Amino acid sequence: MSGARTVLPGATIGVLGGGQLGRMMALAGTNLGYRFVTLDPTPDAPCGQVARQITAGYGDIEAARQLAAQADVITYEFENVDAGVAAALSGESYVPQGSELLYTTQHRLREKRAVEAAGARVAPYAAIGSEADLRAAVGRFGVPCVLKTATGGYDGKGQWVVRSGSDEELAEAYKTLSAAGTELVLEQFIHFEKELSVIAARSPRGEVKAFPVSENVHADNILHLSIVPARIPQEVQAEAERLAIRIAESLQVVGLIAVEMFMAENGELFVNELAPRPHNSGHYTMEACRTSQFEQHVRAICNLPLGDTELLTPVVMVNVLGEHAEPLLARMGGDDEAAKKLGVTPKVHLYGKHEAKSKRKMGHINLLTKDVQAALAWVEQTNIWRSQNDD
Ligand code: AMP
Repeated sequence: MSGARTVLPGATIGVLGGGQLGRMMALAGTNLGYRFVTLDPTPDAPCGQVARQITAGYGDIEAARQLAAQADVITYEFENVDAGVAAALSGESYVPQGSELLYTTQHRLREKRAVEAAGARVAPYAAIGSEADLRAAVGRFGVPCVLKTATGGYDGKGQWVVRSGSDEELAEAYKTLSAAGTELVLEQFIHFEKELSVIAARSPRGEVKAFPVSENVHADNILHLSIVPARIPQEVQAEAERLAIRIAESLQVVGLIAVEMFMAENGELFVNELAPRPHNSGHYTMEACRTSQFEQHVRAICNLPLGDTELLTPVVMVNVLGEHAEPLLARMGGDDEAAKKLGVTPKVHLYGKHEAKSKRKMGHINLLTKDVQAALAWVEQTNIWRSQNDD
C-alpha cells in the first residue's frame, strides 16, 4: 500500500528496531497520542519498555507480518533493514519512507552519487575493486587517505586510514577490508577544522525543515559531544542547513535525514555520510529546540505539519557510554554544585539498557546553558569523561 496519507493520533506506529532511537520516538509520539509497537530480538528492549514489543529477529518475515498487522504505519530506527522484510512490510502495511532511500544510504558509493546529484560536495573518491585499483587511486589522492567498506560500516568500523601508501600497507589494507566481501571505496583525506551535522525533516506533503547545525566531537570514532550553536561562522551555518534541505528535497526524503559533514579550514563543506533516521547528534533538540527530532520524525511520517525547529537555548549534549554510567549514577543522588556554579542545567536521558558494556550508548545528557563553554567546563569538572577529555 502506498500513496501519501495523513495518519492521525490514535493510530499505531510500528518501529523496526527497539533501541534508544525507537524509545525516544515512542516517548515523543505517545505525547501526541499515538500508540507504538516495536520489533526487536532483545527481550525488554529500550523501546519495548515504553511500547508493545514483538520479540524476534529483524530478518523474521513472520514477525514482520505480525508487526504490519498491528501497525497503521511503519518506520525504522536503523538503516540496515533487510530488503525482503522491507518489501513484505510495504506490501502489508503503510511504509511512508519507502525502501529507495534505504537502498541509497546502505551503500557509500550510491550515497555519494546521490549527494552529488543534490548539488553538494563529497570528498574526492574512487570505487576500488582490486589491489591495482587501490594503488592507482592512492597515487592520485596521495596519503593520508581513507579506505572504507561500501556497506556495513559504522562508528569507524570497516575503515583503514592509508598512511604510508607502501605496497605492504596497501596489500594489508585491501586484504583486511575486502574480507568483508563488500565493495570498497577510497576517499581523499579531508583535513577538517570541524565535524558538523544537520538533521532535516520532510513530509509527504513536501514540507521541509532543518534543525540548527551541530558541531560534533568524536572520541574513538563514537560521538562524544554535540555543541549548539556550532562555533563556526554564521554563513557556514546557513550553508550547512541549506545543503541538508537540498539533500532532503532531492532524495524525496520522508521522515528525518541526518547529514554529517566536514568543514575545511576555508569553511568549505564536504558531506561525509547520511542517515535516514533520528541521529545521536540531534538528541540536543529534546530540550533545546521548540520541537525535538523525535516529534518531528513522527510528524513527518504521519504527514502532520512539521514543528518549529528554533533553538531555545545554547546546549551541549554529552553521550553516556557504558564506562560512564556508574560514575554518573553515583553523582545523581547528590546536589550538583558544579552545575549550579556554572549556571548549567543537566537533563539526563537514560535508555534502560540492562548491561553497561564499555563503549555502549547507555544515555546522554543535554546541558542547557547560556554559554557552551560553561557546559564544556561541567563535562571537564565532573571527571566522568576523563579519558575523552585527555585525548
Ligand atoms: P564515517 O564512518 O564515514 O562516519 O567515518 C568515521 C570518522 O572517520 C569520521 O567521523 C571522521 O572523523 C573520520 N573520517 C572519515 N572519512 C574521512 C575523510 N575522508 N577524511 C578525514 N577524516 C575522515
